[in-house]
Amino acid sequence: MTESTTGIVPIDIEVSSQVATHWYNLNADFPEPTPPALNPATDEPLIPEDLAALFPMSLITQEISTERFIEIPQAVREVYSLWRPSPLHRAKRLERAIGTKAKIYYKYEGVSPTGSHKPNSAVPQAYFNKLEGIERLTTETGAGQWGASLAFACALFGLESETWQVRSSYEQKPYRHMQMEVYGSSCHASPSELTEAGRRMRAEFPDTTGSLGMAISEAVEVAMRDPKTNYALGSVLNHVMLHQSVIGQEVLAQLTQAGEEQADVVFGCAGGGSNAAGLMFPLLGQNLREGTTTRFVACEPAACPSITKGEYRYDFGDVAGLTPKLKMYTLGADFVPPAIHASGLRYHGMSPMLSHAVHMGLIGATAIEQKDCFRAGITFARAEGIIPAPESTHAIAGALRYATTDARGGEVIVIGLSGNGVLDLTAYSGVLG
Ligand SMILES: *Cc1c(COP(=O)(O)O)cnc(C)c1O
Repeated sequence: MTESTTGIVPIDIEVSSQVATHWYNLNADFPEPTPPALNPATDEPLIPEDLAALFPMSLITQEISTERFIEIPQAVREVYSLWRPSPLHRAKRLERAIGTKAKIYYKYEGVSPTGSHKPNSAVPQAYFNKLEGIERLTTETGAGQWGASLAFACALFGLESETWQVRSSYEQKPYRHMQMEVYGSSCHASPSELTEAGRRMRAEFPDTTGSLGMAISEAVEVAMRDPKTNYALGSVLNHVMLHQSVIGQEVLAQLTQAGEEQADVVFGCAGGGSNAAGLMFPLLGQNLREGTTTRFVACEPAACPSITKGEYRYDFGDVAGLTPKLKMYTLGADFVPPAIHASGLRYHGMSPMLSHAVHMGLIGATAIEQKDCFRAGITFARAEGIIPAPESTHAIAGALRYATTDARGGEVIVIGLSGNGVLDLTAYSGVLG
C-alpha cells in the first residue's frame, strides 16, 4: 500500500472552514493544574516513557500538553469533514411539548458514520498510530460504540483493531460487533479466554457479565505483548478530551450564528467524560478567560454514580491494576455496575480533567434513574424525531428536569446529544413494554 491509499497523507479534499483547525486544551486555562497520572509501581508522576509501550509519542505529548491549541492534521480534518460540523438544532417542538419558556438547543453527534461522538477521537488516534508505524490497535468497548468507531477509523487509515466488549453488551447488542467485522476488525466478549487477565477473571467469577475495567485489562495485556500493537482508549484520558473539543468549539460558533450571547446551562451525559468534556471545555475555557457565565451539569446513571457517589482519589483505570493511577471520581476499580441499558455509562471512574473541573466547582453533576432517562428519551423522540442513544437520554432527562422547574424565560439550554439509539431499540421496546 502507498501512503496515500492508507490515508495518512492528505488526499486533497477541500475541507470547509467550519471544520475546526485546532483542538482546544482546557489544561491551558485551568486555575490549578490537573493532578498528574502516577506510575503504579513507584507512585511517582508518569513520564512519557512509561506510556510508550501502549501509545504513540504524538498522543503522549498531547496527553501531558498545556498548550491551549493543538493543530489538527489535514488528513484528520478531511475525515472529520464527512460529518463535521455536526448540527446544533433548536428543539422548538420539544420546548412546546414540555411547556418551557427556556430555549433548548441540542448538539447532535449521531450524524457520524457510527452514530456517536466517538469517531472524533478514534480518527486522530488511528492516524497518529499509523504515522508511527503501528499496525494494530487493541481496545475495550461497553455498548460497542467505541469499538465500532475505532474499527471505522482503522479501516480508513489501513490499520486493524481488536476489541474486547463487555460480555453483557456483546450479547445484548450484536449489531455492534457485526459493524466492527464489516470494517475488517474483530471483537471478543470480555472476559475472554484469550488473555491471562480474562482467564483469571473467568475462573474466579464464572457468571460475570463483565465490566469496562475488565475489558481494559485484556486489551492492555495484548498490546503490551506486541511492539507493533498499541492500545487505544475511547474516553477518560486527556488526549481524548482534547480531540472531542471540536464539539464545543462548533457550539460556540453555532450559538453566535443563532444570535445567542452565550449558553446559560449545558447538559451532557458522563460515562468516562469525553462527550461532556468535548462539549463543555471550550465553553468553560471561555468562562475562565473572558468571564462568560455558562453553567454545566454532567448527568450520570443512578446505578453507576461515579461523580455523585464516588470518592475523589487516585485509582486504577482497570481491575487488574495494569494502567497508571488516575486522580478521579471513582467507585473503585473492582466495582461491577448492574447491566443497565446505557452501557456506555458503566465505567467506575471518570476523566481526571472532568473530575478536576468538578472538584474545583466549575462543573456540577447529577445522577438520574434509568426509567426517567428513557421517559425523557421517548419525549425527545416524539417531539424531535431523533431516537437518542440510551447514554444521551441522561443529558436530556437532566435538561428537561431543569427546563420544567428552575429555568427562567429565554434562558439558553444546550443538550449534548452524544449519539443515536437506532442500534439500541431493544432497550426502548423493553421500556415501552
Ligand atoms: C460512549 C458513549 C458515551 C459515554 O462516554 P463518554 O466518554 O462519557 O462520552 C455517551 N454517549 C454515547 C452515545 C456513547 O457512545
